[in-house]
Amino acid sequence: MTGVSRRRLLGTGALTAAGAVVAAASAPSAAASPASPAAPAAPQETADVVVVGAGLSGLTAARDLVAAGRSVVVLEARERPGGRVYGLPLGDGTTSEGGAEFIGPTQDRIAALARDMGVATFTTYNTGKNVYYRNGQRSLYATDGILGAVPPDWGVVDLEVALLKLGEMVKQVPVGRPWEAAKAEEWDSQTFHTWSRSNSLSSGARFLMDEFCSSTLSVRSRDVSLLYLLHYAAAAGNETTPGTIDRLINTKGGAQESRFVGGSQEVPVRLAQRLGDIIRYNAPVRSITAEDGGVTVVADGITVTAKRVVVAMSPAIAGKIDYSPGLPASRAQLMQRYPMGSIAKFVAVYDTPFWRADGLTGQAVADSGAIDATFDNSPPDGSRGILMGFINQTNIRKLDAASPDAVRAAGLDSLGKLFGDTARNPVRTAIQRWDNETWSGGGPVGIAPPGVLSDYGPALRAPCGPIHWAGTETSDYWTGYMDGAVRSGERVAKEVHAAL
Ligand SMILES: Cc1cc2nc3c(=O)[nH]c(=O)nc-3n(C[C@H](O)[C@H](O)[C@H](O)COP(=O)(O)OP(=O)(O)OC[C@H]3O[C@@H](n4cnc5c(N)ncnc54)[C@H](O)[C@@H]3O)c2cc1C
Repeated sequence: MTGVSRRRLLGTGALTAAGAVVAAASAPSAAASPASPAAPAAPQETADVVVVGAGLSGLTAARDLVAAGRSVVVLEARERPGGRVYGLPLGDGTTSEGGAEFIGPTQDRIAALARDMGVATFTTYNTGKNVYYRNGQRSLYATDGILGAVPPDWGVVDLEVALLKLGEMVKQVPVGRPWEAAKAEEWDSQTFHTWSRSNSLSSGARFLMDEFCSSTLSVRSRDVSLLYLLHYAAAAGNETTPGTIDRLINTKGGAQESRFVGGSQEVPVRLAQRLGDIIRYNAPVRSITAEDGGVTVVADGITVTAKRVVVAMSPAIAGKIDYSPGLPASRAQLMQRYPMGSIAKFVAVYDTPFWRADGLTGQAVADSGAIDATFDNSPPDGSRGILMGFINQTNIRKLDAASPDAVRAAGLDSLGKLFGDTARNPVRTAIQRWDNETWSGGGPVGIAPPGVLSDYGPALRAPCGPIHWAGTETSDYWTGYMDGAVRSGERVAKEVHAAL
């Protein structure tokens, strides 16, 4: 199926000009701390708001707060903006999307941001047949038939029945408040694995449901709450169009429909350029102290005092910061209970997109090998061929001790089985492992095991005094996606502005 991409199973305020933004940026504080003879004290600054994290959520929050006339300092741990959106260097001066890549219908807020930044989209290559590799057999299938993206496995009827049931359950989950679903307790007391085994008999259906989970969340179906997964699908829409599983998994008409010209990283990079020097890079925040009606935020090399702070990242990574006084238990424990998936992107570059001549989309799903889903990541003009393979969940952890050569060999072996021997001889390869990234801890998104949403869910967004929370995990629509990150930044900026 095509798309069983990572995302496909079986398949404000107006920006001000850069100059205005910089003018509204933080002002150096008059109250610098006394110099220590041993080590010079870190510079101290003041601002209305500190934003921690220059991913899409933090950048969007900063944009809207600045536009509302607030002074803002953004502290970013890495040397670059974008967080989970990253142009992976290919070693020849070009990049390929190493993190977030696709955009689809109803993802209105990332679409609006990209338009504002002058970043165009193009349609994901999707002409021809998909490859399905299962039980040692390679088969090809079209995605424009009655089954759509679903591969022609023996379990397909079984699967369709299960997906219909799931679809009905998705409709019963309130977007942004899954813990309020009438059956929240029942659905949050089991994993997706438990449910899929109780609601299917064939190994084909079970494999495809597991693959849906792997390619969408990069976790195994036994890792994630059924309620979380239902909400993920309910959130795959907007205020006028209800979310569906199909929209999560499809390329055409779904979350994988389009890509950004020049790569998705163009969006945060251009926004960061507009925000200018209010962003401080290489400034990992170590502690946040709430006192005297405000906050003191201590990062490497800089301390900022402010009225409010926005922590714009996944709950698990927010949990690495030291909070004083301690946070309410519901928030503190939520951050211990919202793990990231394990994901890597393996990229192989060829002189031409040779699979197109073979009538293939470049999309594949496999039950064995390092890579379980692939896409055609070639540039819009097809001037060279790029195959991208997701190495998900246990597959990437199995490579923990492997040498770079062994990882490359494992990736190419997968691509060779799926696309033929030509795929074994790329011009170059590259890999981006997210579970090794200190400031991401995995990807694509934080997930909730059973019990977490119903007991701790409201703490995802609830401010803790002057501390506010953003990040795609806090979004109502398109949580887990770039669109959710932008929505969360827009929501938190309104929240903070109103509180100031
Ligand atoms: C492999 C992969 C594929 C994906 N594919 C897609 C896709 O096709 N389409 C899609 O829409 N989405 C996709 N996503 C998801 C998307 O990337 C995220 O939803 C989105 O980028 C999250 O943005 P964010 O601002 O919420 O968090 P992040 O991007 O994680 O930003 C958080 C920022 O905070 C910084 N930070 C962390 N700790 C600190 C600290 N202590 N001090 C200072 N800074 C700190 C980090 O460095 C980072 O810059 C994918 C993600 C991955 C990893």
